[in-house]
Amino acid sequence: MTRPLAAAAALFIMMTASLAFGQPTAIRFARVWDGTRVIPNAVVVVDNGRILSVEPAGKELPAGARVIDHRRYTGLPGLIDLHTHMTYYWDRQPGTRPLGQRRRPAVTVFLARDNARRTLETGVTTVRDLGASNDTDFAMRDLINLGAMEGPRMVVAGQGISAPRQASGPDPDTMRKAAEDRIKSGSDWVKVYASRGSFDSVDTTQTLTFDEMKAIVDAAHAQGHKVAIHSYGASGVRDAVRAGADSVEHGVDLDDETLAEMVKRGTVWVPTIDHNRYYVDARDEFGFKPEAIPPLREYLQRNLESTRRAVTAGVRIGMGSDAVYTMFGQNTRELGWLVKAGMTPAQALGAATTTAADLLGMSDRLGRVAPGFIADMIAVEGDPLQNIDALFTGVKWVMQDGRVVIDRVGDK
Ligand SMILES: [Zn+2]
Repeated sequence: MTRPLAAAAALFIMMTASLAFGQPTAIRFARVWDGTRVIPNAVVVVDNGRILSVEPAGKELPAGARVIDHRRYTGLPGLIDLHTHMTYYWDRQPGTRPLGQRRRPAVTVFLARDNARRTLETGVTTVRDLGASNDTDFAMRDLINLGAMEGPRMVVAGQGISAPRQASGPDPDTMRKAAEDRIKSGSDWVKVYASRGSFDSVDTTQTLTFDEMKAIVDAAHAQGHKVAIHSYGASGVRDAVRAGADSVEHGVDLDDETLAEMVKRGTVWVPTIDHNRYYVDARDEFGFKPEAIPPLREYLQRNLESTRRAVTAGVRIGMGSDAVYTMFGQNTRELGWLVKAGMTPAQALGAATTTAADLLGMSDRLGRVAPGFIADMIAVEGDPLQNIDALFTGVKWVMQDGRVVIDRVGDK
């Protein structure tokens, strides 16, 4: 059963690898933002899936190098979306909504290729996928790593941990075991739901205690795994930070003490501002009730306001779209909000590159266009460092692991 599939996958890998190995590729850009600075008229040389050099034009190219002329475009590192749900897929069958569809897990994995493709088209070459059911995210991660599915490399959490429906009181011991089970089953990260709130609900009610979060974080850290804690409300964020969460997802009304604690600990905040914009825009698709819309808008404004205060305080901010269903393809629009919150375009891009790579423990190979780094790069029409909006429609070309995975240079 597995042998033909393995053979097919191996052949696919050989075929695609042959494009990347042996012959260096030199890509010329109008400018490259390498993750820290802008290099005008830059030439990036790639070989074996890695970046060999980044230099101003004029240096001699390696013998036999294939040249790609992107002198109309800005080059950036491949972007990282720190919060997706790649396996949330809507097949648009008549009479259905995104929420509530049921299908076999294998069918979901197959269909969710479309989400993966749309994500690549935004220039995102790596995601942290924070919650999926039936191991579907493990399957996607493994297929992408095999080269058998096209998509951003995935760091995944599997099923998130949440309070049991009929909790009889705080139970740190059960939470610790849950974290250990997650890791045993294949989770790279542990995802925790410490409050309510999702889709059309902005309920900030905290559902896990500080002790329960601490038990999860300690258990995961003891095995070298990191923890992302979801909290819509301020108290949950405060407890998550003190419990040692590596990143906190969502949140409003963060108090000054918590912001200071985040700065001190280096906690990354992933505010996911744009996902509520998406829910408002997609309300008819989802069939949300009209009365759900004003609270979504209000939450967004408070979310943005807290992000402003966090930026001023010096909290490390990460870009997470919280993309689900039809939001794939809009993954980077969060960066517009980060600029509205007071970041420069370069700082906002840092939230999707250097900060994100650091959070993932991959800062030695992702998030920069630099020698020795994985050759994940994108070419953008316009200059996102002047106007971040250029990124939302201007991604023309995407390279991942030294392979061109999106090429729209010839498109109108
Ligand atoms: Zn989420």
